[in-house]
This record gives sequence, C-alpha cells and structure tokens, in this order.
Amino acid sequence: MLRGNGKSVKTRKLEATAETAPAPRAAKAKPAKAKAPTAKKTKRKAAPRYSKEEIHEIFARFHEVDPEPKGELDHTNAFTLLVAVVLSAQATDVGVNKATRHLFQIADTPEKMLALGEDKVREEIRTIGLYKNKAKNVIALSQQLIEEHGGEVPRDREALEKLPGVGRKTANVVLNIAFGEPTIAVDTHLFRLGNRLGIAPGKTPLEVEKAMERIVPDEFRLHAHHWLILHGRYVCKARKPECHRCIIYDLCKADERVPYDAVPEVALQVAARVAAKS
Ligand code: SF4
Repeated sequence: MLRGNGKSVKTRKLEATAETAPAPRAAKAKPAKAKAPTAKKTKRKAAPRYSKEEIHEIFARFHEVDPEPKGELDHTNAFTLLVAVVLSAQATDVGVNKATRHLFQIADTPEKMLALGEDKVREEIRTIGLYKNKAKNVIALSQQLIEEHGGEVPRDREALEKLPGVGRKTANVVLNIAFGEPTIAVDTHLFRLGNRLGIAPGKTPLEVEKAMERIVPDEFRLHAHHWLILHGRYVCKARKPECHRCIIYDLCKADERVPYDAVPEVALQVAARVAAKS
C-alpha cells in the first residue's frame, strides 16, 4: 500500500528568523457619512509583505529538507485516494488509515465498493466521524464513477467536484497526488499559515488558494501544499508554533513568531545548504 508519510516528520525541523513587521492596514477612503465605524478596521494590521526572494527562499528551504513530500493518507490507486480524502473530512489521517486498512483490501475499485454495499462500508468506517454520511457518499460516488466515467477517477476538476462528498479541496488533492497537477489544496493548516505568516492572506480557503497560486514559484508549486500541511501540522501548530525548530524562522513575519536571541541553528543550517546550491 502506498504511503506518502515517510518523510513528513523531517519537514518539521524548520525554523525561521524573522522580522516582524505588520504595518497598519491602510484605511480605505470612506465617505464621511458612512455609518459603520471604521476604528476597528484602521487598527487591524495588514499582512506582512514578502519579497519574491523571501518567498523563493521559504520554499527552497522546504524543498531542501524534503524534496519529495508525500501525503499521509494510505491509498493504493486514484480511487482509494479519492475515498480516503472524502473520509478525511473532520478526521485525522491516522484515524482514516486505520479505518481504510481493511476496507481497501476488499474494495479498491468503484465496482467492488458498490458490491460491498453501504451497510458494510458503514461498518468498516464506523470509527471515523460522520461515518454514516460518508458511507453514503462513498457508495454514491462509486456508482457515479461507474456510470459516468467508466469506473475511472476523472482527471478533471469539474467532474470531480460533481461527485458526492467531493469539494474543491478534495478535487485539488486528487489532482495533485493522483495526476501530478500543481494544485494547492487549502486545508485548515494552509489556511492558517497563509494568514499567520501573511504569505497568502485570505478570508476564505479559495482566497488563500488563489493567493498561494500567485506567490508560490512555479518550480515549487507541485509540492507546496504538502510542505505547508506538514509544516502546519508538526511545526507551526495552531495553538503553539514550535519556532525553535522552524527552518524558516528568519524569514517568518508572523506576529506569533517566538522571539529568540538568535536564529535557531536548524534554520541557519538549512539556509546554508540552500545557499551552497544556488
Ligand atoms: S510562527 Fe510558524 S513559521 Fe513563523 S517562526 Fe514560528 S513556527 Fe516558523
């Protein structure tokens, strides 16, 4: 069974030095009669700005530490990947992997999944949150794949998003991992990092995705979402970022960056390795 997990832990050795910097957000010119108070808006900080060189350096360091990052959901083919991603909504990859270990042994194609039936699928995945609804979706998407795509997972965003239980994020993951498309799937980690670091701010996942697409250099686009997921999951954690082991510490402009007297060694080492290759 393919498993993209292997190196993820490596990626969590990152750091960064940083200049904090958020400048006050420029207040929009508003008519004098505007009713809504603007005080709050004028106090909010604008996302820090990064130069092209800084953005390039951030991704060059991720690449240096983990050139071929993989997802952590077990799968054996495009279909099992699709099912695993559908099951992963509001569940951990570890939990999904436990539940699919046996399921994918007995049903790794839409035909086999359909033959298994909703009741059995539900039983197999009962340890995952929202399993009843997810079992329904897995059966329905299997049926749709057979009826409309000859049992194959389509390499097409629109077609993917028409499948039950499949949204933009899931489609992006499948397009990226199964078909090698340079899509950027914005999950909770990417959304947080885009905004926290200020590299790709946005109020919605789609805004962050579009911002990521604008700033991530082409050469790093294919793996960008994996690097950021792993960085968010293991280093730049939601509640308490582990800045002491962050490889982009000296580049980070997040307010949450923990101040140290010196740039963590790991960031210096990775920066030196990148510099040596450039
Ligand atoms: S806030 Fe996140 S990205 Fe910034 S230094 Fe800390 S761990 Fe690294």
